[in-house]
Amino acid sequence: MAFELNICRILLPKMCFVVFFHIFIDIILKFLQPTPVNNSPMETKKNVFSNEEITVTFNPRKCMHAEKCANGLSQVFRTAIIPWIDLDAAGTQRIAKQVRRCPSGALQCVVHKTAPQVA
Ligand code: SF4
Repeated sequence: MAFELNICRILLPKMCFVVFFHIFIDIILKFLQPTPVNNSPMETKKNVFSNEEITVTFNPRKCMHAEKCANGLSQVFRTAIIPWIDLDAAGTQRIAKQVRRCPSGALQCVVHKTAPQVA
């Protein structure tokens, strides 16, 4: 009986130490693993809208959801329809002007050289 108690007194702390050490190492390894970067084309392409005259990109991570775009040009920036940006619903220069008003920078655009220029 005394022998068994001695074994418990010696082995139990060592076993506890091993278990906690493994848990500690697992936690450390989880923090050290690099965060996966999502560079898949699907992720980026679904927020790129383009026609012959203009390309508009939308970064949902930057969007403040202030709906300035939808309030300013609702026929192009539609909140309840997919795809939510319809570049054929207004003139290119008008769309570019509204994109530049985006307070967060979530909306960006490039006006192509083929687009009619405003004098
Ligand atoms: S204007 Fe910009 S920040 Fe505001 S809802 Fe539209 S995309 Fe988002």
